[in-house]
Amino acid sequence: MEGVTTSPRGPDPLATLGPARLPSPLHEVHDDRFTAYGVRLLLKRDDLIHPRVIGNKWRKLTPHLRAMAADGTGTLVTVGGAYSNHLRAVAAAGDLLSLRTVGLVRGDELARRPLNPSLARCAADGMRLHFVSRSEYRTRHDTAFARAVRERFGPARLVPEGGSDPLAVRECAELGRELAAAHPRPDVVALACGTAGTLAGLAAGLGPEQRALGVPVVRGAALGDAVRRLQDAAFGGRRGRWELAEGFEHGGYGRTPPELLAFAADFADRHGVPVEHQYVAKLLHALVELTRRGAFGHGTVLAAVVTGRPDDPRAPDLDNSTPASGI
Ligand SMILES: *Cc1c(COP(=O)(O)O)cnc(C)c1O
Repeated sequence: MEGVTTSPRGPDPLATLGPARLPSPLHEVHDDRFTAYGVRLLLKRDDLIHPRVIGNKWRKLTPHLRAMAADGTGTLVTVGGAYSNHLRAVAAAGDLLSLRTVGLVRGDELARRPLNPSLARCAADGMRLHFVSRSEYRTRHDTAFARAVRERFGPARLVPEGGSDPLAVRECAELGRELAAAHPRPDVVALACGTAGTLAGLAAGLGPEQRALGVPVVRGAALGDAVRRLQDAAFGGRRGRWELAEGFEHGGYGRTPPELLAFAADFADRHGVPVEHQYVAKLLHALVELTRRGAFGHGTVLAAVVTGRPDDPRAPDLDNSTPASGI
């Protein structure tokens, strides 16, 4: 494809994905809920990186895709819940790069039901879906699970839930480096967390006087431990300054109560930015609330990472149909 950068080693193996917009754009929005407290709000638009491999999933998946191109692996197997943005990004990447993709979906009861729109999109992009029982899904981090996958699907790259592994975490440090080099330079960079792989990388890439703030969307997920574990595995130790702001889950993963949807629609109206509901709306709502409570000093430059995009507005609303599962 024209305009795609080539490395000195030859053509980019990911060229058929099409160009990525990196560094992702950063722009300021004027919102009286922040300016009234002397806080400047910037949006880091990772939602604009790529049209189909969306948001932080681009950052987390491309190192895996490059490794597959380098070692010739043709199949990517991964896991996720029934509404997983990660599964959709993997399926889209597989479609664009002509790779075989297999999605192991939590909940074997789903096998007897019509596919929800998210899984239907995965299937349309060529992903083979297999439904696994919740008890089997709980063993997804075990070596026995990986062995069973290899026995069943042959030589394959097994990518963990949400794509979060050391390779992805190291790539997400680039998000931090982009923000360390940005003007204006944010003091605090906030993002919504599922597995917290993006937070673990982001914190590592920020400058020493910047800090990352993660807003979990999953209740009781022990994400602090996850960040420490992921950073140890990715960097051999702890990196950067980060903290978690809990209590903004709105009932937990997959729950999007009407007040949250109204908040998201209003934010989108005010600023012309599409607001994804599962993560981004919860993040922005948390930031409004934390600012109101005085959590950010006067003069703080606060950046919110827009990690994803809402689903196609023509598709039926996924959000409230099932108390969803998985990331
Ligand atoms: C997957 C996802 C996240 C969570 O990323 P983690 O690295 O798992 O914490 C956040 N926002 C959006 C829109 C996502 O799709």
